[in-house]
Formats: sequence, C-alpha cells, structure tokens
Amino acid sequence: MTKTDRRKFLAGSAAALAASSFAKPAIASGNIEWKMVMTWQKTLPGLGTGAVRLAKRITSLSDGRLTVKPYGGGELVPALQVFDAVSQGTAEMGHCAPYYWLNKNRSTAFFCTVPGGLTAQEQNAWLYFGGGQQLWDELYAEFGLRAFPAGNTGAQMGGWFNREINSLEDIKGIKMRIPGLAGEVIDALGGSSQVIPSQELFTSLQSGVIDALEWVGPWNDIALGFHKAAKYYYGPGFHEGGPTLELMVNKKAFDALPKDLQTIVKAACATENILMEAEYYRNNVVSFQALKDKHKVDIRAFPDEVLKEFFTVSEQIVADTAKEGDINKRIYESYNDFRKASMDMGFVSEFAFLKGRNRY
Ligand code: CA
Repeated sequence: MTKTDRRKFLAGSAAALAASSFAKPAIASGNIEWKMVMTWQKTLPGLGTGAVRLAKRITSLSDGRLTVKPYGGGELVPALQVFDAVSQGTAEMGHCAPYYWLNKNRSTAFFCTVPGGLTAQEQNAWLYFGGGQQLWDELYAEFGLRAFPAGNTGAQMGGWFNREINSLEDIKGIKMRIPGLAGEVIDALGGSSQVIPSQELFTSLQSGVIDALEWVGPWNDIALGFHKAAKYYYGPGFHEGGPTLELMVNKKAFDALPKDLQTIVKAACATENILMEAEYYRNNVVSFQALKDKHKVDIRAFPDEVLKEFFTVSEQIVADTAKEGDINKRIYESYNDFRKASMDMGFVSEFAFLKGRNRY
C-alpha cells in the first residue's frame, strides 16, 4: 500500500465509521432488551434505587446493546414471584434477596444471610473467593438461574420494640415482624414471628397488631417513621450481619449473551455490590445520629442473656439446613468453616481493633 493508497483507505474507513454511526438507529433493533423485575419499589432508598442504578449501568456500559428496563415489585409480577418469573423467562433478570426463596430451597439463605452468619465483608470474601459463588451456581442451575452479588445493606439493627427487653421472659409471647430463619429463632424462644408487607408495617406497629419489628437499619427505618410508632430501638441485628442482594438472571438467556455482555453484567453487579454497601453505611451513620440526637430515641443493646439465646438457637436452626440434602450439607459446611476461621482471626484482628478503638 503506497502512502496515497493508505490515505485513501483511511479516509474510506473514516467515512464508513461516520456512516455506521449515522446508521445507529437502524441497528438499534438488533439491541437486546431485557426486563429486570424486583421485590422492592424502585424508589425504596438503597435496595430499589440501587437496582435501578444497576439496570442503567448495564445499559450504559453496553452502549445500549443490552438495554435493561427495571420494574418495581408488583409492576410486572408480584414481589414474591420474582424467582419464578426469572426462572420461567417471563423476565430475564430479577433484583431481590436470596432468603426470600426458602420455599424453593432453605439453603438459598446462605447467599443472603443467616442468623448469626457473616458480615458484609465476610460474605463477599466467601462468595467471591471462598467457593460460595460456585455452590450458588450449582444450586440455582436446578432452577434455570444464575445469580451474582449485587448489593448489601451491611449489618442490620435488631429492630423496634414497644416493650423493654430485659430478659428472655420479655421475648415470650412477643408478636414480631421478622421473616425467614430468624423468625424461627423468635418462635423457638416463645415469641410469634409474623410476615407483614412493608406498606403495612408502620400501622401494625403503631396500632399494636405487632409488638416489634425489624426492617433494615437507621437509614431505611427512619424513612418509614418507625421512631414515631415504637419506643425502643434495639441492636444488634443478630439475624442479619450483612445480607447480600442478588441479581438473578435466566440461565438460558445469560448463556446466550455474547461474552463481552456477560462480562458487563458481572462487572456492573460487582460495582453495585460495593456502592450499595457504602451508601448504606454512610446513610446509616447519619440517620443513627438523627435518631439519637434529634428524635431522642431510646437506643439499647439486647441484654447478654437474650443475645446469648438468640445466637445459640440460631446455630442450631442454621445447622439443621444441612440435613436437607447433599448440596445443603456442602453449602452449610463451606459457609460455616469459613465463618469459624474468620471468627478465629477476628478475635485478634478486626473485632479486637473495633473493641479497642471504641474503648480508647
Ligand atoms: Ca431485615
């Protein structure tokens, strides 16, 4: 190729490039359009807004080649039918919490959180580098699904109580909104766990239909006004040390994506996984100050006697999931081995650091 030829060639390529960018609307029909259903309202701070941000990120990273349209809970399918909708392909994606699917398999909880389980940092370590993701892939393949960590609320609070908790006697007979395996812990201690839709939580607590509830943490709790409905705010949330939210994808649809779009989906999830946790932590700290200083909420720690039983009963309920099948046993063992090892290190590492920092 002579110099002139090369110039002509380059000019030709430039013209072709310009033409192809003009032709964009025409090839837009070749873009893939996916639906993302979710268990939350799109406007719910953190969970919902994070899911919408994730949908936008996938669309923008792929320059619209994979356009994701988010639908809040109930818009396309009812909130608790997200699993079935994505499994059956009614929607290609779902943003939700794996512990909503205990009726499919009780061990889905481990990919979210279990009572007395992992913190957000530990959860990520186990999922990304400790074999958790592989077990999750294996479990979800049975349902035609893939899932990736796509958000975390960080450590939650124990909840809002209309009675003082001074001993185990105070847990007996308590009617508390607390779902999943954690609800079984309250039941085992003589309480009565309830599942109530989020829009009915405030009135149920205020009117005395329930005595207590747990929701998320200061940021989400203050937004729902629970400090106006209950007197005491207890911690810690023994039942949710750092729940992972998931982006589930219909496996067939995911496998059929070009490799670069698969990478974009995974990378967008990893980004949201970090951002949502950071956003929660910062806003929880700010909202906690407001509850304490502005709203003068009576913030308390559960007494040791109660905390001891919460954690002891949790151990048993969580261990029992291993009896349900081979995959359940492997999930429990992998998770619990990591949890124990992390506690061993934490004793002289992070836990000791936090204890020292708070004390001195
Ligand atoms: Ca919760």
